[in-house]
Amino acid sequence: MLQELETLLAVQADDLEIHGIEDRLAALAPRLKALDQKRSRIASDLERATVVVTAEEKKQAFLRDKIAEHKALIDRNQAQMDVVKTMRQATAAVAQMEEAKRIVATEESELVAINRRLEEARSSAHTHQTALDACTAEQAEARGAVTAEQAALEGELAAARAKRDAKAVGVPAGLLGKYDKIRIRRRAQAAWAVKGHACGACDTAVPMQRRNQMSTKGGIDVCEACGVLMYFAE
Ligand SMILES: [Zn+2]
Repeated sequence: MLQELETLLAVQADDLEIHGIEDRLAALAPRLKALDQKRSRIASDLERATVVVTAEEKKQAFLRDKIAEHKALIDRNQAQMDVVKTMRQATAAVAQMEEAKRIVATEESELVAINRRLEEARSSAHTHQTALDACTAEQAEARGAVTAEQAALEGELAAARAKRDAKAVGVPAGLLGKYDKIRIRRRAQAAWAVKGHACGACDTAVPMQRRNQMSTKGGIDVCEACGVLMYFAE
């Protein structure tokens, strides 16, 4: 076997190892995504509940102001009662006061309803916050495991690539370029030994003349059917 072929096969062994590490690294992404999705679902529930709390708080504050305003009006009407001179003025002041009292009564019952809704909204927000905290705590270990695995695989990958690159300088640039093109396209083994009379990758028969060429000169050929590099294993 030619020295360059032997070196190429050693590079290929490293490449297959590198592909394996890359696949394992890529497999970590869905795990992180699943964790993110679960957490973000709870986070959106919390966000929606918080929006409701804020809205009800706003309504509550507005209504409290209105009630204070209308109560002050009642007080003013009350004070006016003491200074009215005529029966007509007294009747008008009483009517005004009664009207203001009716408004305040309506507003107060509305406030009770708002207070109840606000309490429910706060309780719901609290539940979602608790769920989010629990999810964060629960995921900490899983996220830590993924991060650790990622760091370990990246270390492995760097070492494997360095090993590969050191070997690849021993392969003529033309051959290495051809090999890399096939490997990147297939993302799998690019150089195959002839098996019997056929290509080791696709099992298509190799014409005898080309087979002889490979076996006698140790040459490397390209399979016309599937495009991989073929060689003759001794
Ligand atoms: Zn083939």
